[in-house]
Amino acid sequence: MAPSGTKVVIIGAGFSGLTVAYFLRDKARVYLVDRKTHLWNASTGLITPPTLELMKRVFSFDPPVEKAFDSMNVMFKDIGNVYLHDDKPFLYLLDKTAFFQQLQDKLGDNVEQILGYSFKDVESQNVILERKTDQKRIPYDFLIGADGCFSKVARATGLSLVKSWLYGYEWGTEPTQGNNTISFVIDPNIARAYGVWAFTSSNETRIGLASDRPLRKSDAEQIGRTYFSTQSQPSDFKGGVIPTSGPIRRLFIDNVFLVGDAAGLCGPFLGDGIQTAIKSGMAAAQAIDQRNAGDAYVQFLKDSGVIKYLKQQAILRSIWDRFVSHTTLKRLYRFTLRNQGHLLDDLTMIKEDPSKFPLLVRKFFS
Ligand SMILES: Cc1cc2nc3c(=O)[nH]c(=O)nc-3n(C[C@H](O)[C@H](O)[C@H](O)COP(=O)(O)OP(=O)(O)OC[C@H]3O[C@@H](n4cnc5c(N)ncnc54)[C@H](O)[C@@H]3O)c2cc1C
Repeated sequence: MAPSGTKVVIIGAGFSGLTVAYFLRDKARVYLVDRKTHLWNASTGLITPPTLELMKRVFSFDPPVEKAFDSMNVMFKDIGNVYLHDDKPFLYLLDKTAFFQQLQDKLGDNVEQILGYSFKDVESQNVILERKTDQKRIPYDFLIGADGCFSKVARATGLSLVKSWLYGYEWGTEPTQGNNTISFVIDPNIARAYGVWAFTSSNETRIGLASDRPLRKSDAEQIGRTYFSTQSQPSDFKGGVIPTSGPIRRLFIDNVFLVGDAAGLCGPFLGDGIQTAIKSGMAAAQAIDQRNAGDAYVQFLKDSGVIKYLKQQAILRSIWDRFVSHTTLKRLYRFTLRNQGHLLDDLTMIKEDPSKFPLLVRKFFS
């Protein structure tokens, strides 16, 4: 058990950093730093039923869910559409802002939230934070880099960096489809193995896309209009990056750990990073409670299946990036049609049981 005077500085208050702070709130003196003053996240917020169960189990409040989806319309560019349906929801839309707020409210007095400050550097077991002309120095026993794909903590401490990523964008527009379906367009011209998605929630349709190059707002909106024929002015345009190179080589050095996107712990193929951010945050918090903390962190991550799942997705991405063509897209279309009855279930469960991954890939390539 870490002594309660242990100082833990967490850089980044997204899914991973907030999770570390939450689990250490009564066990250490925690400093949670984010350059934003109001916490939000560019992620769509889609989570699988097992992720929702995990959240319910590990946090002391019910995660706020906006909507449940039971079907997906997959559109293969210039080839055809496949409608996938399940009797039960296969994805939920998390209300991220409400979720972050609830987590922040639970942190208590042992966690000092330092918002509006950017991490700059480390200097002999102190972090240097900056806000305009103001600087802060905070000493630490443990430093957590939860600062996303382009981690400055990784850079400052000599840890490896995420090598490749996609650019993700999302915005709202007038409601077009009032059902529980997500539309997903696979178009390799936009991103090699990803595409454009849309769903209607509350009183708007959200459109998102992942691209292998940065896009201007007007270009992104034009792509959205091409597929979903919306006419109204887009609102709330946001962008972020999605790591696609898989887990970085070294996840820790001495008493510095990287978690979530900073450690490349996001699905290289599917772009799913919420569950892995939470699991890595839990693993880091658990490890700080132990001797050999760095090794314990990696072991906890391995035990939770996160590393295996992401490495398998990384292999799938590299195969796909090399071989994607009109022919492979046709193949994927036929594969989706053949497996129409259980594909949603397969995709939901694969994260929980990564050993099924090779089977799914073999089925596709055979
Ligand atoms: C458009 C888009 C859609 C996505 N949709 C989904 C989805 O539906 N489902 C899913 O599972 N995953 C999705 N993802 C991936 C998922 O959002 C991420 O994997 C996850 O949010 C990673 O969490 P994190 O806490 O590690 O990092 P982040 O969420 O990136 O948080 C990093 C935090 O660090 C702060 N920060 C950065 N640098 C500094 C600094 N120098 N000083 C201080 N603070 C700093 C940032 O302000 C930020 O708050 C999506 C990603 C994008 C971009």
